[in-house]
Amino acid sequence: MQLHLYNTLTKRIDLFTPLDAEVVRIYSCGPTVYDVAHLGNMRAFVFTDVLQRVLREVGGYPVRWVMNVTDVDDKTIRDSSVGSAKWRSEMGQQSDDLRANLRAYTGHFEQEFRADLTSLGIEMSHFAQMPRATDYIGQMQDLIREIIAAGYGYTSEGSVYFDVAAYSKKHTYGRLFTIDTENFREGVRIDADEYDRESVSDFVLWKGRKDDEPYWDFALNGEDLPGRPGWHIECSAMSKELLGLPFDIHTGGVDLRFPHHEDELAQCCAGYHVHDQARFWMHNEFLEVEGKKMSKSLGNFFTLRDLMKQGCDPLDVRLTLMLAHYRAVLNFTFDSLRAASVARGRVQNVIWDLIDVAGVPEAADKSSMPLAVAEAFADDLNVPQALARMYEYLAANADAKNSKEHAQQVLNALRSINNVLAVWSFSPRPALVVPNDVRSIADQRWAARTAKDWAEADRLRSELGTLGWSMKDGKDDYTLEPLS
Ligand code: AMP
Ligand code: ZN
Repeated sequence: MQLHLYNTLTKRIDLFTPLDAEVVRIYSCGPTVYDVAHLGNMRAFVFTDVLQRVLREVGGYPVRWVMNVTDVDDKTIRDSSVGSAKWRSEMGQQSDDLRANLRAYTGHFEQEFRADLTSLGIEMSHFAQMPRATDYIGQMQDLIREIIAAGYGYTSEGSVYFDVAAYSKKHTYGRLFTIDTENFREGVRIDADEYDRESVSDFVLWKGRKDDEPYWDFALNGEDLPGRPGWHIECSAMSKELLGLPFDIHTGGVDLRFPHHEDELAQCCAGYHVHDQARFWMHNEFLEVEGKKMSKSLGNFFTLRDLMKQGCDPLDVRLTLMLAHYRAVLNFTFDSLRAASVARGRVQNVIWDLIDVAGVPEAADKSSMPLAVAEAFADDLNVPQALARMYEYLAANADAKNSKEHAQQVLNALRSINNVLAVWSFSPRPALVVPNDVRSIADQRWAARTAKDWAEADRLRSELGTLGWSMKDGKDDYTLEPLS
């Protein structure tokens, strides 16, 4: 089926056609591994996972997916520095070798990140590569040399900068993000990797060495410039090296449109002489908490492991992150997480009922996805609509468990849908597992009932109902059953 996707570059929904008939190439800006990623970051990664799964399952394309790991920037350097309070025993002993410290520190959080992705149903086998920036320093240096040779960069006080004014004479700076050129501060250089639109100025390609920071040697036109790369250069160099330019789709959160993606694109035009780094640029909106972007700096964040420690199933979190269209802001609440959990549990029970009748399905045939659901996925990844249409399909096939053939057909449909959503299991029904929080509320209700505190017992019963469980009272004990 043909897909239509919103493209930040053209600012409209375009028909997607791959550049290369063999494979669709996707580059996703990955995490900065200075800490555990929060759920806002995870929204970006779940969004890209859905994208690449829709391309495979609905579009029928093979996919080559690369996501980088930013393991050198201000934050990773700060937190891996000698004596850092954030150093942990699992990272080993700190040494005088600052680059080894950086590697050990970021390596720890990279492993945590991979574990989180796996918990969220993102399969490592779907990545062609997950490269670390520090393994591509040579390619970044080559690109900087090309940018300088083309006349779009210069050296100042041991660092190298991109010359936005020179670039703007021949190219448009501001293709992904409308920039008010009046804000351009000619001759002003900015060393920070993250800045806002009010600070458009020459950005750093290579930062000169600072005391007590790791560095790499760099010879540029006979000058020795020990230092380390700026943030933006890594994605230009790695996407070219691993995918070739132009590639099909570049992804990231909306905050990456400017300056990160704008600068990546400018560097590729300037140094690799291509007009487009990628044909499609896709950006997910923010996950918010009470109207504010979830972020480390605001302190309003949750991590997946926080929630898992509280007994949440990570696949409920995955479903919660998919409940809004990727271009709409999504507000994170525990109510939405509970609602996702109940909804996921209900469909899981339908799947188990059908497996009781028809057995575990074989690998799904792509054509078994209901057309209306596939069309919703193909329409700029409209997951909420796909879910609504899946529920309609299930309602229309509510009698499927009356015949083995019908049960098989619905199971195949669900399995194909799940190749995109990845939140259900198609193994046989396991012995009933009651989550700890449900068990604890049930115990409290039993105690309230024994004490004849009927109001409290009723309140706790409805709390169990919200969590998707019903409690049956026996003479001496109770039993719990999931609501279907
Ligand atoms: P970082 O590790 O900060 O480089 O971010 C990794 C990815 O998460 C990027 O694509 C960001 O745009 C994205 N991101 C960060 N915060 C949020 C948020 N609150 N909601 C959605 N995406 C986010
Ligand atoms: Zn990037």
